[in-house]
Amino acid sequence: MEREVDVLVAGACTAGLYFAGLMAKQGYRVLVCDRSSEADLGKRYDIIHIAQGSFAQFGIPEPGPGDPDYVQAFHQSLQRSALDKWPKNNYHDVLVLRRAPLMKRLSAWVREQGAEILFDTDYISPEFDDRGRLAGALVRQGGQDIKIKTRLTADATGIGAAVRTKLPQDYGVENFVTGPRDQFYVVLRYVRLQRPEEDKVELTCSWPYYKTWIAPQLVPGGAILGVGANLSFDYANRCWERFASRLKLPEYTFQYLEQSSTPYRRPPYSFVSCGFVALGDAACITNPWSGEGVPYAWLLCSIAAEVFGRVMKDGAFPVKESVWELNRRYQQAQGALFAQNLAMLSGAVKCSPEENDYEFKHSIIFEDDADKGKGNMVLKLLGGLLSGGISFKSLSDLAGAAGIGGKIYKHYMAFPDKPEGFAEWVREAEALWSKADNMADLADRDLAAMTAASIPG
Ligand SMILES: Cc1cc2nc3c(=O)[nH]c(=O)nc-3n(C[C@H](O)[C@H](O)[C@H](O)COP(=O)(O)OP(=O)(O)OC[C@H]3O[C@@H](n4cnc5c(N)ncnc54)[C@H](O)[C@@H]3O)c2cc1C
Repeated sequence: MEREVDVLVAGACTAGLYFAGLMAKQGYRVLVCDRSSEADLGKRYDIIHIAQGSFAQFGIPEPGPGDPDYVQAFHQSLQRSALDKWPKNNYHDVLVLRRAPLMKRLSAWVREQGAEILFDTDYISPEFDDRGRLAGALVRQGGQDIKIKTRLTADATGIGAAVRTKLPQDYGVENFVTGPRDQFYVVLRYVRLQRPEEDKVELTCSWPYYKTWIAPQLVPGGAILGVGANLSFDYANRCWERFASRLKLPEYTFQYLEQSSTPYRRPPYSFVSCGFVALGDAACITNPWSGEGVPYAWLLCSIAAEVFGRVMKDGAFPVKESVWELNRRYQQAQGALFAQNLAMLSGAVKCSPEENDYEFKHSIIFEDDADKGKGNMVLKLLGGLLSGGISFKSLSDLAGAAGIGGKIYKHYMAFPDKPEGFAEWVREAEALWSKADNMADLADRDLAAMTAASIPG
């Protein structure tokens, strides 16, 4: 069986559906394929948090009370120190949503724009034209092979990056596999509180030192206890045990567990090549501070739809040079900041619980919205050093990571506006990344220390 479309989108979740809708809206013939059944789409985990403003920003119909994907909205979240003190209030409007019905909302919106979705359909392999350009795909639906001719293939297959990883080495986009050490492992325990009135969870409270949080659940009297960590689910669970052994948590009855992972590594240096774009988790663009990915994927999708939509008019094939501006625009809008944070985070986590507590107390790194921008950070850090609140070693780790992060930020902001300067830019980027710590290495050391001390903790 053979089909011809303008755009093939592999993967029908938050990134793929949104990009498909934007391209279909511009009049392109768009086909989306997903290996999942329609009924199971999005069921990898249930509850998802998305900034409320993202829906209006990206033109997606916003869920509201009474809709099947809507659970609740919250406007405030809290962060607390490693010693469970100095709460920092942050204010932002966030929607708590159910992922599977949210995918139904997006699927309906995509079909309204004129795109077609094929479920139970696996992306198998790329196909190339006689000039070596990506110009099609083999997909498989219920044992039947379908050859698809297309001018653009968008990889939105999530962490597995089913298209990108199958491109030839020299195709212009890195084809690395996001391996186990390049992932952030999230474990969510859905629980019922034993004293629901006293311990009611109405907002998300997190403890950045332990990368743990307690969030509202679907039902009143419930809560989600979350932990995220690099390295493995096993290490994430050890981190949770350490956290639970040090702080007093509300008493609860365990209901069920969800666990899944997100990419945690630098994205490919280029997201585009001839007839190709990588989006969402396939492009590794999750936020290094939170592991969240949806609004950031929508940003990349919106830039991609604008650039490819313009370039592909009148039947033109989107060659790498014609769509290159996407890279620069994404890096300047978001990528440079995430790259900086990825490089800096190791410096912020290498400290003792007492030092983390000091940082909270003096609004170093962790700030209440009301204190944002107040005080001089250098003086605060020096004060920490002189008073013994922060050790010289921790301060120099922090300064070293901040220094490398700053250089990476500047380098990404100066992303070349044409492919010509790219090889040189990549060489410099590689040199900078080689100086940044890897969070999986830090996790390895922490796990070894925990094991040696037979803790939790
Ligand atoms: C436990 C957990 C909680 C999270 N919470 C949040 C949150 O609250 N807020 C937030 O913004 N982010 C959150 N994230 C991150 C967020 O889930 C991801 O960034 C986001 O789902 C990425 O969307 P995506 O469309 O790129 O990929 P995915 O959601 O992974 O979708 C990929 C799709 O591709 C399909 N597919 C895969 N391979 C193939 C193939 N070969 N052929 C055809 N189809 C294929 C899959 O079936 C799937 O439907 C969380 C992640 C985890 C693990």
